[in-house]
Amino acid sequence: MAKINENFLKLPGSYLFSEVAKRRRAYVEAHPDADIISLGIGDVTLPLTPSVIGALHKGVDEMSRAETFRGYGPEQGYAFLRESIARCDYVEKGISIEPDDIFIGDGAKSDTGNIGDIFGLDNKVAVCDPVYPVYIDTNAMAGRAGNYDAATGKWDRLIYVPGNEDNDFVPDVPDLRGDDAPDLIYLCFPNNPTGTVATRSQLKSWVDYALENDAVILFDAAYEAYITDPEIPHSIYEIPGAELCAIEFRSFSKNAGFTGLRCSYTVIPKTLKVGGVSLNSLWNRRHNTKFNGTPYIVQLAADSVYSAEGSAETEGLVRYYLKNADIIRRGLSEAGYRVWGGVNSPYVWLKTSSGMSSWEFFDYLLKELNIVGTPGSGFGPSGAGYFRLTGFGSRENTLRAVDRIKKGKLL
Ligand code: PLP
Repeated sequence: MAKINENFLKLPGSYLFSEVAKRRRAYVEAHPDADIISLGIGDVTLPLTPSVIGALHKGVDEMSRAETFRGYGPEQGYAFLRESIARCDYVEKGISIEPDDIFIGDGAKSDTGNIGDIFGLDNKVAVCDPVYPVYIDTNAMAGRAGNYDAATGKWDRLIYVPGNEDNDFVPDVPDLRGDDAPDLIYLCFPNNPTGTVATRSQLKSWVDYALENDAVILFDAAYEAYITDPEIPHSIYEIPGAELCAIEFRSFSKNAGFTGLRCSYTVIPKTLKVGGVSLNSLWNRRHNTKFNGTPYIVQLAADSVYSAEGSAETEGLVRYYLKNADIIRRGLSEAGYRVWGGVNSPYVWLKTSSGMSSWEFFDYLLKELNIVGTPGSGFGPSGAGYFRLTGFGSRENTLRAVDRIKKGKLL
């Protein structure tokens, strides 16, 4: 008799975004004329740039002729893209990464979710809290998270490293050593949902901790393009020793607007070994078996992001969203809210007013100001009492929403 993976049954429902949609729908049904502005979205809204569109057209034309048609490509990605990434994102920035350290994928969601394939089920996993939920759910599906306790909102085999006002939502390394220390550590900077970034010395403390405890850091840098402060590292490999203990994930989604095209990459330096085994070769094996490559035309489009025009256009997109985030951050501060992020990040994290829960604040914004955001509690227990807004909307709507918040009566 077939048996299911019972771990799936332990997953709580995908409560956050379905509940957001449900409450929004109910309000709109009751108030059909309401002018709702969404600052809850984590998806980009500006169209693809001319360089990317040009590359897509070129790829489509090539696919239409027998001489230039391409079928299956290398599972790891075409050399042209791996070489551009190694050169532009690493070597020119003084970081020693080679093209065969890089695996092209179809999204950082898939890559951060699938990376668990190469790690044993008995690894102890640490996540920051609040957190991008994919890290938790994929470990729960694999059976590494234990059981979910609805009362605490925690899985009993995961190690939660809290982000809070004391550490400005940049979690410190846990006080766990030896057998108690985590084996796998998920870090995400610039962070979703809090918008915070880690300084060089904060990242160094994580790298040192991982090296001391033979742990592997899974570093999600999906938002690195938003870093404008020259002191903030874009890559974990800017920290000496990270090439021995860290995997890095990057994406074309939030910089070049590829959320609908799908292209990402994962960096696993050949120097990174666990028990003498190269993680690069394990992931290569996994990729060869389970993945048949990101489409050629999409890889061409991703490569165009590294051309002079392409990178200028991409910077323009990022600047637009950063400006929106800045408008939100300043507006909220002026209205008296405590805020984090919104600089070096498209996300703004705020403390709800008057001691409201995240969901009470959601209802206030929706019903009183007709603004939709995302309750912080949906990202983990440490998100309770906080709220996420994003800079991914249009400038006009961002300005209108901030105006409404400033005129709101709460503070
Ligand atoms: N990592 C983080 C932290 C994210 O917030 C997101 C998307 O919102 C992703 C990864 C997924 O990116 P992709 O579109 O490349 O799958």
